[in-house]
Amino acid sequence: MSGFVFSEKPIGIERGEGAYLYADDGTEYLDFGASYAVTPVGHSHPDVVDAVKSQAEDLMYVQASYPVAERTELYEKLATVSPPGLDNVWLCNSGTEANEAAMKFARNATGRSKIVATRRGFHGRTFGALSMTWKDKYKKPFEPLLDDIEFVSYGDGDELAEVVDDETAAVFLEPIQGEGGIHPADTAYLQQARELTEEAGAALVFDEIQTGMGRTGTLWACEHAGVDPDILTTAKGVASGLPLGATVCADWIADADPEHGSTFSGGPVVCAAANATLDLLVEEDIPAHAAEMGDYLVDEIEATDLPVRDVRGRGLMVGIEVKRGANRLLRDLALEEQVLALPAGRTVLRLLPPLTIDESHADEFVASLEAVLE
Ligand SMILES: *Cc1c(COP(=O)(O)O)cnc(C)c1O
Repeated sequence: MSGFVFSEKPIGIERGEGAYLYADDGTEYLDFGASYAVTPVGHSHPDVVDAVKSQAEDLMYVQASYPVAERTELYEKLATVSPPGLDNVWLCNSGTEANEAAMKFARNATGRSKIVATRRGFHGRTFGALSMTWKDKYKKPFEPLLDDIEFVSYGDGDELAEVVDDETAAVFLEPIQGEGGIHPADTAYLQQARELTEEAGAALVFDEIQTGMGRTGTLWACEHAGVDPDILTTAKGVASGLPLGATVCADWIADADPEHGSTFSGGPVVCAAANATLDLLVEEDIPAHAAEMGDYLVDEIEATDLPVRDVRGRGLMVGIEVKRGANRLLRDLALEEQVLALPAGRTVLRLLPPLTIDESHADEFVASLEAVLE
């Protein structure tokens, strides 16, 4: 074998349906990680599959300077469902690229270079996005990175007030830190970030790559706080697993006309997958279902007397702080109980299941967790 970078797990996956993955030996796995929130409407949803098939037959690709119906529709859909004032859509192929674009657009619109980011934050692994990411492990081997980045403690409004000034191009925040351990920001902090950036003429950027697409019980996590950013980035679940990222911007960012581009921007097949995914999320009110299922899941976990330190998050973005190594626990869950989930740091079990799960899936997860923890 010649692959590298990823260490592979001893489970070969062949097929997916709803909340389940099926291995090549026929074993059924309950998927509570959804490969990092990538399947909000479940694996291989028939509507998404049909949309992809039919678009692939018509046209696999044409560059973004020629309008095609699926791309035009997605521009409109994303502008419609995004927070008020965010009407301008840039499409790319991943979360890190969506954040790179956001950095460039904010620098271009403000004529400034300083970016404020947060401790424990995660924004991706290309050089710009990596420079805003907190963890040394991801950064050290590749330095020097961008140097005009200032880190503040997530949730500390006073510290934010000290660093946001008339040299600041943008403040980047995840409304709930994902990779950093599932830490929700409180409403007052997001509101303060809004006020400070507005006063300073800086862009407020919400990285909703993990929290978006209905994950937290509303389509975007910032809706809970009622705070509208100048730029919102999304990716992960937006096209049900086909590579798509989006940077959605206010007029003052887009009107500054940033020079940017990408060969694969807005390919019709990925746009068809995204349109079908967004239609399902909106028409079936899946975010509201995610809110209900999230409450149910957390209640069920808390009703057990499992040795866990904390259960936190919002909707179906749930972190369980455990007393032993998360990786070992995840291995036991996969191999003994056929349940897949994710870590977020050494001691947090991260749950990002498809948003379409029902109570029986939550019960199955909790029973499995009890089995491996006892
Ligand atoms: C996953 C993630 C990214 C990076 O997205 P990629 O598609 O892996 O490049 C950026 N920000 C957040 C909050 C993420 O969860």
